Amino acid sequence: DLLVVGSANADLVIGVERRPAAGETVLGSDLAVHPGGKGANQAVAAARLGARTALLARVGDDANGRLLLDSQRAAGVDTVGVLVGGAPTGVALITVDPSGDNSIVVSPGANGRLTPADVRAAAGLFPCSRVVSAQLEIPLETVVEVVRSMAEGSRFVLNPSPPRPLPAEVLAACDPLIVNEHEAKVVLGEACVSERPEDWARLLLAKGPRSVVITLGARGALVASAEGVERVPSTKVDAVDTTGAGDAFTAALAWRLGTGSGLAEAAAYAARVGAAAVTREGAQESFPTAEEVESL
Ligand code: ADP
Repeated sequence: DLLVVGSANADLVIGVERRPAAGETVLGSDLAVHPGGKGANQAVAAARLGARTALLARVGDDANGRLLLDSQRAAGVDTVGVLVGGAPTGVALITVDPSGDNSIVVSPGANGRLTPADVRAAAGLFPCSRVVSAQLEIPLETVVEVVRSMAEGSRFVLNPSPPRPLPAEVLAACDPLIVNEHEAKVVLGEACVSERPEDWARLLLAKGPRSVVITLGARGALVASAEGVERVPSTKVDAVDTTGAGDAFTAALAWRLGTGSGLAEAAAYAARVGAAAVTREGAQESFPTAEEVESL
């Protein structure tokens, strides 16, 4: 089974002709509200593929929190680990201009109140989880507690997004660390001297994770471990909206690893899931079923 520990946000989206300057008001389109946040997205993506999935997260006792709980349950995610209250549900305020460029303000809200104590209180979720997947839209000390709570023999997968330097204890637990190009550069910091993803993979491995996956958008992905570095091809699709592609990729990879697939095999499957996700608008709405992945 897969346990996702992470964020749950309501994405509030308004289309605008142009962004307001300070002190100015502009009129926009009707408001669209979508369930989002990397943790919630990953849990829905895995469950839609058929994975038995639980989410450990925190939402507010408000309408946005109920929207997120409803979307998790509709996808078949076990929500016993979704805690309610303490702050308003996390929100991303998104304006989109006619050229498709986003401006986003995030209020972490309840995501920032998911504490190490919450992780300890959810200890019952860990023994039955072969794979535990986390991101960084929750406090870093909470992620550290997740690493310490892992059951013997289960596997930790981390997408360090938004990226920041990671403590050695967290890096050493990652199997794999999954990064896109931007995240790879931030995690490497000054060690990033090359433009070749193969070099980033070797440099990232030297920081301590047992394995590394670098996602390269339409160019597919790259997997690296003690056994070497390997390219994973992408699937040719007409990209409509890449929102959530990385979350779908990570969820699919984590699930396949839990079923016993090797890293390269799991990444090849995840690349097909990521490709399917970019053929449709939205994040959670765009995630494919296993049948849709097969027919790609
Ligand atoms: P993120 O969304 O985190 O930036 P990427 O853009 O690298 O991550 O996308 C994650 C994965 O989704 C890629 O490794 C690839 O397998 C798949 N993917 C993303 N964009 C495309 C695309 N335009 N065509 C085919 N596959 C894609």
